[in-house]
Amino acid sequence: MTFSTLGLSAPILKAIAEKGYETPSPIQAEAIPAVLSGSDVMAAAQTGTGKTAGFTLPILQKLIDGPKVRANQARVLVLTPTRELAAQVAESIETYGKHLSLSSMVVFGGVKINPQMIKLRKGADILVATPGRLLDLHGQNAIRFNQIEVLVLDEADRMLDMGFMPDIRRLLALMPKKRQNLMFSATFSKPIRALARTIVNQPVEISVAPPNATAAKVKQWVCPVDKKRKSAVLTKLIHDNDWGQVLVFTRTKHGANRLTKELEAAHIMATAIHGNKSQGARTRALAEFKQGEVQVLVATDIAARGLDIDQLPHVVNFDLPNVAADYVHRIGRTARAGAEGEAVSLVCVDEFDELADIERLINQILPRETMDGFEPLHVLPASSLTSRPPRKPKPKKPNKGRKMGGNNQRRDASAAPKKKRSPQGAKRGSKQGESSGDGQQPKWPGKVPAKRRSANGNKASSGRQK
Ligand code: AMP
Repeated sequence: MTFSTLGLSAPILKAIAEKGYETPSPIQAEAIPAVLSGSDVMAAAQTGTGKTAGFTLPILQKLIDGPKVRANQARVLVLTPTRELAAQVAESIETYGKHLSLSSMVVFGGVKINPQMIKLRKGADILVATPGRLLDLHGQNAIRFNQIEVLVLDEADRMLDMGFMPDIRRLLALMPKKRQNLMFSATFSKPIRALARTIVNQPVEISVAPPNATAAKVKQWVCPVDKKRKSAVLTKLIHDNDWGQVLVFTRTKHGANRLTKELEAAHIMATAIHGNKSQGARTRALAEFKQGEVQVLVATDIAARGLDIDQLPHVVNFDLPNVAADYVHRIGRTARAGAEGEAVSLVCVDEFDELADIERLINQILPRETMDGFEPLHVLPASSLTSRPPRKPKPKKPNKGRKMGGNNQRRDASAAPKKKRSPQGAKRGSKQGESSGDGQQPKWPGKVPAKRRSANGNKASSGRQK
């Protein structure tokens, strides 16, 4: 299959070719015709599958014909849970629409509202927004929704997790009843289906690349280590292997700050990205990391969600996530768009339960490899996929509403408290997407055989070779 058979016009095909895409990804092959046909769409696809182009390309195509956008209006509204994702989607729209004369704009919180209000006066064919700031803008009469033709909910599962549903419902009530709805979510869990019933109408359902299929492209291994020696191990891994670009996940904002300082003390350029940082600092950190000016980006889960960094070779779980599904999201930051990647988890004995949950979710025992000189005093037990029932995620601190830590973050995204999610939440009965066919890149994720691996078999590359 090629893009030209999908019903996209020459200016869009030109932009796709300039971007270097040769074959539509499975989600694109299914979503593009569905969106063009005018149907509502409900798609299970996570970041990394090419979903952004899956909805952006047909939307651009549809907008070519049609009425001009009016002042303080938008024809397409894309809602995302985080500012970083909003910025990325807006960037994709610019890229794919660069040979068209359509306007697009992105709005999110944490930055001044006035410039956004001024810019909205002209209206925007496509508006990308985080829900909180959009409601603020509506409250100030800077945006009205009468002209909305298409609504996209991106990462709807995260919107639920982050407590955005009341905002979304308020926004939905402001929109015209007759519109096309596109909903993208990493999973089709029960709560997502319940939400979908209130939004989409007789949707075309698309489901490709289950999370563990993405994980299959990533070389994963576990480095057992005592908690207090983790930062020394990380430093050694980075130095010994000359790792140039590493995304490191910590569980807490405080932990991210502390680790950043420790890395800097070891002469490793590092910066942290989390919800307590100002939007300016977050944007700067991401830009410096993408440009290679900073070697290590230390991130908490929510801040890193949806980040698309080209060819990111290494992901390190400094702490394991409390919710197993987040492991899959984390390691999905590498091996994107068919590339290969490596994910190492530094695991101490206290994290055995979390590790066991992850291994059960991905149906795979991760190979262990200790570092010479860092053998743990507290030994990490061997796991088994069947020996114990799934652990209930530890209860989180009570949800204090949407008020954020830090300045300027009254409503938006990344610092919002996350609700508990069951590990099963990430399981999905999904249809496998077709392969890219011609053996050319990109090689989109294939299905993972539900095979059991022994802890000793299939030894992972330690990533220590140069
Ligand atoms: P997304 O899932 O939308 O975040 O996209 C993940 C990555 O895949 C981005 O870096 C895109 O530029 C890239 N991508 C999207 N579609 C294609 C395609 N058809 N061929 C190659 N790369 C693609």
